[in-house]
Amino acid sequence: MTEHKGSITMEASHQIEHPPLHGEDPCKKYSQNKKLSGASTDIEKLYEAVPQLGNLFKIKGKIGEGTFSSVYLAVAQGRGNQEEKVALKHLIPTSHPVRIAAELQCLIVAGGQDNVMGVKCCFRKNDHVVIVMPYLEHESFLDILNSLSFEEVRDYMFNLLKALKRIHHFGIVHRDVKPSNFLYNQQLKQYALVDFGLAQGTPETKIELLKVIQSEALQEGQECFAHQRSVFGERNFNVRSPAFQDRSTVKLVKQPKVTDIPSRKLSAKKKATSTLNNGLAKKAASSCPANLTCDCYAKDRVCSICLSRRQQVAPRAGTPGFRAPEVLIKCPHQSTAIDIWSAGIIFLSLLSDRYPFYKAGDDLTALAQIMTIRGSRETIQAARTFGKSILCSKEIVAQDLRKLCERLRGNSTSFDNSTGDVQIKPQESALPAEISNAFEASLQGPQKHIHYQKQHHHGGDGRDVRITEKGADPKGWDNVPDEAYDLLDKLLDLNPATRITAKDALLHPFFRNMKQ
Ligand code: ADP
Ligand code: MG
Ligand code: ZN
Repeated sequence: MTEHKGSITMEASHQIEHPPLHGEDPCKKYSQNKKLSGASTDIEKLYEAVPQLGNLFKIKGKIGEGTFSSVYLAVAQGRGNQEEKVALKHLIPTSHPVRIAAELQCLIVAGGQDNVMGVKCCFRKNDHVVIVMPYLEHESFLDILNSLSFEEVRDYMFNLLKALKRIHHFGIVHRDVKPSNFLYNQQLKQYALVDFGLAQGTPETKIELLKVIQSEALQEGQECFAHQRSVFGERNFNVRSPAFQDRSTVKLVKQPKVTDIPSRKLSAKKKATSTLNNGLAKKAASSCPANLTCDCYAKDRVCSICLSRRQQVAPRAGTPGFRAPEVLIKCPHQSTAIDIWSAGIIFLSLLSDRYPFYKAGDDLTALAQIMTIRGSRETIQAARTFGKSILCSKEIVAQDLRKLCERLRGNSTSFDNSTGDVQIKPQESALPAEISNAFEASLQGPQKHIHYQKQHHHGGDGRDVRITEKGADPKGWDNVPDEAYDLLDKLLDLNPATRITAKDALLHPFFRNMKQ
């Protein structure tokens, strides 16, 4: 790279290689170049920070960058002529040691089989930790989504559930199940669940360090969570970053404002106006005097009395569009069922060819979006089972999952008897008009062009017989069995207590004949 004339020896010794650039858009090229040069300095920094790596690996390039880690592709040097590819996950130095150790322990104890990523070794120098994993080349979900056949989708879900069954068996709640954490190699049919950076333990967890995290979190108490709650983002239930505490303290001061944002946004724009009232917290002791009557119960606005109440303690890490309703509603007792919900959201994307399916900016919007598919009455009823009351200004009827997915996918076909043509209905919005605007963006995507040809063959009696759905679409999307939508319905059960488990989902008729 020309930008790094000063570090020729560094580059020569470590042979930084960059993936080829795609496309001819000069702006894109420029930004990619900038990104890549950034990556190469990061690689140099990593070699400096953890010098042991230089003796063992040639780092080829950066393959992932999140808030809490950077992941690199590297090859192991000096093992005969065979080069072995590995992924190096460099955790940000501010990560809490127990968090890091717990992530490693999940990989060591549960990983290495049933589509759960394993670990080869780990390096540490001072506060820098690098986890070395086998490398799994994988596609970007968005890139392949519309090329997947129905059978591939079935395989994908089967393998995802297999990974979840495995980690749930160890009492690990992943908390961040989404496509970028479930690596998929379409050609090799290989899968790997990665990223235990947010994992938590169930009360019976077999991962010792997850128990430690739980008890630490408990000791840190409500204050801690109240602080973290106001930080909108993915990683607020972790003890990784002191930077978070700083930021969240600032937010805490502005807490009433922050809390009010969702409700204001919703009512102002006349979208699904929903207000969350924490029925239990009202009764429970809080910083707010118990005898103060609340102004806002059953109204779509949060009153100042409620704003001065303490936030309820509940972990809510994860990515908004994949969060289960009990996470959004801040139910304090969350279980492995939250990962199942996220798997259901992935399945919904796969069946409808829409990703991300929900792109909510905050929890209440996310909840309103869930209601548009699963129904407001149903959502309210499920919330009641864990002691929460939700107010929704408008009743939204639950949707038929098959109709919804087919409409979004754009392959709802009708057969014209007079002409014998199969017609494709234009893509319609799947959602009630007033809500669809709220997340139109999340439902837009490349329109699928499936060309149905008039297909006839001669039956034994000489009459033209229309070949039924089977075989008309080589990818099998015109013949999705009811079992698929039945499983989707059970994964997206609003009530975590009755939501299907990974183990039972694998036994669902949808996976009949699949090797367990
Ligand atoms: P983060 O906590 O920053 O999200 P992840 O563990 O999810 O870190 O890794 C980020 C990205 O790096 C993943 O989405 C994936 O693209 C890539 N990645 C992680 N582990 C591997 C691996 N073992 N093989 C190949 N790619 C990986
Ligand atoms: Mg990740
Ligand atoms: Zn109130």
